[in-house]
Amino acid sequence: MARYTGAVCRQCRREGKKLFLKGERCYSEKCSVGIRGYAPGQHGQGRKKSSEYGLQLRAKQTARRFYGVQENQFHHYFEIAERKTGVTGDNLLQLLESRLDNVVYRVGFASSRAEARQLVGHGHFEVNGNRVDIASYLLKAGDEITVCEKMRGNDKIKAVVEANSARPIPEWISADRTNMTAKVVALPTREQIEAPVDEQLIVEFYSR
Ligand code: SF4
Repeated sequence: MARYTGAVCRQCRREGKKLFLKGERCYSEKCSVGIRGYAPGQHGQGRKKSSEYGLQLRAKQTARRFYGVQENQFHHYFEIAERKTGVTGDNLLQLLESRLDNVVYRVGFASSRAEARQLVGHGHFEVNGNRVDIASYLLKAGDEITVCEKMRGNDKIKAVVEANSARPIPEWISADRTNMTAKVVALPTREQIEAPVDEQLIVEFYSR
């Protein structure tokens, strides 16, 4: 499936919640969910009742859009999560959280996951001293992420880190924003993951 190229805020309006896809704007009064808190399109303000399937679909779409993952890849994560021991929904969220682009965003080295994906794709990050340009790279406990040396003095990166300095760092990651390094202390538990997602509905969606 092709990458979504339409208006980003429509995705939040479709899901009826903030997915924080646009960086600073998401925390401002300009957020479209606050201004037009109904679904986009001609019938956006119409019928709101959803079937069971509709709820499950929306939960899956919310998670997919929140993490910026394509349909096929998302399904692939679900299959991995199912094979792992433990609770499938928790495993799924843990996998999504451990993506390199997500961690780069979570520690404030990017304003949004989309920006994080772009920066990673351009080869601006190293994992354990090796350059990694794959946004979906799955990090493990103990992995260290650094902004590559050449980019550490870059004004744009410095401005982004500065702008995000007030954003809290999740407890499963330690980060030194001044030196632009971070470390995955441990993979997150469900309680440590802040995501507007009902993972049980996603499990039900794929179990149909
Ligand atoms: Fe747009 Fe961000 Fe608000 Fe979503 S949360 S509607 S991306 S401004």
